[in-house]
Amino acid sequence: MGDAVTLPRLTVIGTGYLGLTHAVCMADLGHEVLAMDVDERKIAMAAGGETPFFEPGLAPLLRKNVEAGRLRFTTSFAEAGAFGEVHFLCVGTPQADGGTADLSYLHAAADALAPHLAAPCLIVGKSTVPVGTARAVLSRIRAAAPAGSGVDLAWNPEFLREGYAVQDSLAPDRVVFGVTSETAACLLRAVYAKPLAAGIPALVMDLETAELVKVSANAFLATKISFINAMAEMCEAVGADVIRLAEALGHDERIGRRFLNPGLGFGGGCLPKDIRAFRVSAASLGVTSVANLLGQVDAINMNRRARAAVMTREAVGGSLAGKRIAVLGVAFKPNTDDIRDSPSLDLCARLAAEGAEVSVHDPVAMPNAARSRPDLRYTASVFEAAERADAVLHLTEWADYRAIDPAALATVVARRTLIDARCALDVDLWRAAGWSVRVLGRP
Ligand code: NAD
Repeated sequence: MGDAVTLPRLTVIGTGYLGLTHAVCMADLGHEVLAMDVDERKIAMAAGGETPFFEPGLAPLLRKNVEAGRLRFTTSFAEAGAFGEVHFLCVGTPQADGGTADLSYLHAAADALAPHLAAPCLIVGKSTVPVGTARAVLSRIRAAAPAGSGVDLAWNPEFLREGYAVQDSLAPDRVVFGVTSETAACLLRAVYAKPLAAGIPALVMDLETAELVKVSANAFLATKISFINAMAEMCEAVGADVIRLAEALGHDERIGRRFLNPGLGFGGGCLPKDIRAFRVSAASLGVTSVANLLGQVDAINMNRRARAAVMTREAVGGSLAGKRIAVLGVAFKPNTDDIRDSPSLDLCARLAAEGAEVSVHDPVAMPNAARSRPDLRYTASVFEAAERADAVLHLTEWADYRAIDPAALATVVARRTLIDARCALDVDLWRAAGWSVRVLGRP
């Protein structure tokens, strides 16, 4: 790898939410980056300076680095293999049947890249994987790469949050390097030299621990959300207020307020599938404590969707058949157009299955939602969604929705019924405008 330790050429294999952000941010840190994907449409868009998904701040940074000549795109594994000294694997690891992680994309990428690795290089896995995957991928690549044992492998799990992906990539809380050699650790320190110089800690460990750091971080965050949602169920049972509860708990520095937001629960392309894959992996290893814990976390989370459906049915008089329901927000969380395992979209499907006419609004996620659920009605504005509605459901806490004037919205609905499933609206304001308001977890 020669003098590449100071400035290695990078490839990024897989340019989805994680990979494209990583490629752009690595180029912005000054690296020469070749980003590769098998999806020609995504590559053509990115090469033309457009992001195939919504992520605040990413598109201008993409254009800046493409124009600077640091960032290029390809669909060719041969080109990627010949170019890179460090290859980041960022392909998807979605949920397969039974909750396991589907590693077929990772294996396919490794198998397609390996024959083009003629010179020593470092493969760096960033995808979220079950423990043991990294070592298996290394054997697989070494067996097929002309450079053989000259190919090293590290795992550098990614912690970025959609909606904050650029800032999380450029200034992460920490970077984790799972390695089997000091050479790999040195090369990764060179890749991340700028963030490390800014004081971001690098934690160097073995491959298995690095794989586990990512899945256990997600397990902890999911557990925190399900904990407060379990407390929300308790609050509903006794007439207590989960928001006040969360606030009071959060002042305890040992607990902290973040990730204690009660409501419809978590979704997206990461937390649900990651805790399920972790549960299956733990169960197969006989670690029942982890498997049982995560089974409960998942069950509590999914129960929030069922509870919201019950609350909606009750609010419109006991039957959803023929009722008009306006839904505000279908992205799995604000500031993204990602609808993968969206709690909102799942709830929409449940309501539609009971005969409700569901009208949806979302600032950016409607095209994705319409592809996934073409049967729902998509509207250009909150007012259009709420027209003659029997109930308005607040399901994704976009900042725009906090600015809605409840008095103005009251003029278009059939009934002034609001369900705030994200505990994020100013309910006093809505009640003052004559709305009957129900909040998941609040009296
Ligand atoms: P994604 O579906 O948005 O992107 C995956 C990309 O990989 C797609 O563009 C797809 O075309 C490409 N791909 C599939 N097979 C390929 C192959 N054989 N060769 C080259 N490219 C291929 O997924 P994502 O959200 O970016 O997640 C990727 C990984 O990162 C997952 O393991 C995920 O758990 C992890 N992760 C995601 C996030 C996030 O916020 N999205 C955060 C941390 C970790």
